[in-house]
Amino acid sequence: MSEFLSILEDRVIPVVARNASSVDAEARFPSQSIEALRESGLLGLISRIEVGGRAGSVKDAASIIERLARECASTAMVTAMHYAATAVLEAHGSEAIRKDVAAGRHFTTLAFSESGSRSMFWAPTSTARTEGSDVVLDAKKSWVTSAHYADSYVWSSRPVAGDGASTIWLVPRESNGLSIVGKFTGLGLRGNDSTPVVAESVRIPASNRLGEDGGGFGVMMVAVLPIFNLLNASCSIGVMEGALARTIEHANKTKFEHTGQSIAEQPTARQHLARARIKADMARTLVFDTADSLVAARPDAMLRVLECKACAADTATEVLGLLMRVAGGAAYRADVGVERYFRDAQAATVMAPTTDALHDFIGKAICGLDLF
Ligand SMILES: Cc1cc2nc3c(=O)[nH]c(=O)nc-3n(C[C@H](O)[C@H](O)[C@H](O)COP(=O)(O)OP(=O)(O)OC[C@H]3O[C@@H](n4cnc5c(N)ncnc54)[C@H](O)[C@@H]3O)c2cc1C
Repeated sequence: MSEFLSILEDRVIPVVARNASSVDAEARFPSQSIEALRESGLLGLISRIEVGGRAGSVKDAASIIERLARECASTAMVTAMHYAATAVLEAHGSEAIRKDVAAGRHFTTLAFSESGSRSMFWAPTSTARTEGSDVVLDAKKSWVTSAHYADSYVWSSRPVAGDGASTIWLVPRESNGLSIVGKFTGLGLRGNDSTPVVAESVRIPASNRLGEDGGGFGVMMVAVLPIFNLLNASCSIGVMEGALARTIEHANKTKFEHTGQSIAEQPTARQHLARARIKADMARTLVFDTADSLVAARPDAMLRVLECKACAADTATEVLGLLMRVAGGAAYRADVGVERYFRDAQAATVMAPTTDALHDFIGKAICGLDLF
């Protein structure tokens, strides 16, 4: 086990496991779990040594997200968003903000999706204009994970003046003119606080720009997409693993009194479990290979990045369907613990880039066509 995983296991997982059911039932942000991550130093996992971070690789981040998702997919997703936004700050942020993130003093997230361009995050319709040394932002962000709790949003808009589809900014949550609209009570990932955020003439210093004006697409593709897709896929893997463990436990301990046999002793149940195990392992192998391809900067890394999220998200919905069948009517009740994973598994297919969009991109890539 890596040093990071053993810190997670000892200092964070007990807190995450204790809170997982109530985070889901109450659609409550997993504050205790994020505090435990902060205290353990793991919020600074991917920040570099020179700013006080732990210099973990994308592979380390993937293993942390998978382990968290085995207990609580909401905690895994808000942590994944923090790591994805951190990757942008590491590439383009000031030393001061990077030090704050590395020390766990600053928690962040991505605010890309908009009610205008919906899941096509690469084409924001929101605006940015210059006023003196400031920039003024107007936007309707449709989904911002950790909206009420993040200290900042890594934010996309149309460029101020440059060519290109977008520009990326660091927007403090407490900026005047920002409003967080309502409370998230979704089907799954109920603790992830993914809430709309509206910006009305929000003024930030022009120096909060992350990358070039008009260079947002490059930032999204280079700094965000690889880590976001890998971590989103790792979350799906953790969801499958957590659900498999709980289903197998239920299948072993639940008896038919008149035969004295358990659910696991029914051949059909074992067939479903075997298929679920094979599918989860296939997705897991692809996700591991994606992490390896990124660490080694292999030529097929971008294809793997596109594939891993589509594969893990679709596989998780299939596997959870099988596991719900194995656990029977009992699975519909929260006490067996499988239905939470079933609900949590659904979001990844529609989180952008959605599975449908990824299939389109992969098809274009393998046919030698331009992706955009
Ligand atoms: C739990 C959760 C958390 C989220 N957190 C964040 C966050 O922190 N930050 C953030 O920026 N966004 C976040 N999102 C938003 C997410 O990334 C998507 O933008 C959003 O789910 C898209 O929903 P929509 O209704 O706008 O989809 P639409 O864009 O309306 O899409 C509808 C359908 O059309 C399909 N479709 C769309 N484009 C294509 C295409 N090019 N090819 C083929 N099919 C296509 C989609 O697959 C989908 O099935 C979150 C979403 C969820 C569910």
